[in-house]
Amino acid sequence: MTLFIARSPVPGPRSPVPFFAALIDMLFPPLCHLCKAFIPDAGDVHLCSGCLENNSRLSSPLCIVCGAPFFTEEGIDHLCSGCSTAPPHFTAARAAMLFEGTVKELIHRFKYDKKVQLRRPLGILAAQGLSTFASAASPDLVIPVPLHVKRLKERGFNQAVLLGEVLAGHWRLPLSRDNLRRTRWTEPQINLSVAERTSNVRGAFGIKSPCAVKGKRIILVDDVYTTGSTVAECAKTLKQSGAEKVFVVTVARAVR
Ligand SMILES: [Zn+2]
Ligand SMILES: [Zn+2]
Repeated sequence: MTLFIARSPVPGPRSPVPFFAALIDMLFPPLCHLCKAFIPDAGDVHLCSGCLENNSRLSSPLCIVCGAPFFTEEGIDHLCSGCSTAPPHFTAARAAMLFEGTVKELIHRFKYDKKVQLRRPLGILAAQGLSTFASAASPDLVIPVPLHVKRLKERGFNQAVLLGEVLAGHWRLPLSRDNLRRTRWTEPQINLSVAERTSNVRGAFGIKSPCAVKGKRIILVDDVYTTGSTVAECAKTLKQSGAEKVFVVTVARAVR
């Protein structure tokens, strides 16, 4: 009980604030999204310190284009061999964290257990981790990677749209939900090689209103960057419709 009352910034016997704050804490105690530990100072992310520490931020040295980490202790960012031999269609891609630990568990629960409330901690972690990248991009709008209508019906939501809403709100940018579309069904990428992934998504996207992306600097949002095949194909479609630059932002990056 002491913990509940201590949360109020302006305690006072006549003020309704401490009473209501304590009541709200009793009715809806602030719990960690993952381990359900009580967190009196939950903040926006609602993760306890233990779960937050079980995340690995991506840090330099990285590939200056695709953002792949080099896993060496020292060195400056430079071009990876993949981007130097076959430059992707996007200008640059960055992920806030490695796809492991807390973030991996949160993304699985978000997508497959349909815990849509997890868009907030995931979106905020991405927004905080990639704020410098996003502001340097000088973007005009945010576009989520689309799902095919069949998969959208199966899942009930597009995780990239929900994350895009959090990111667009955080960065005060307009969100374009349905201009970029999947125009044909593609098999799940999960068990495919890099080459198979690239051909699987080739020509799978289209733009409804090219004039809305013409000359624009776009932040393309997805949950996880694996090989980059999907975001590269989306970026190609956006560029063909006249987008000036496409910057890819994902919450996590899977490292093979
Ligand atoms: Zn926790
Ligand atoms: Zn690269």
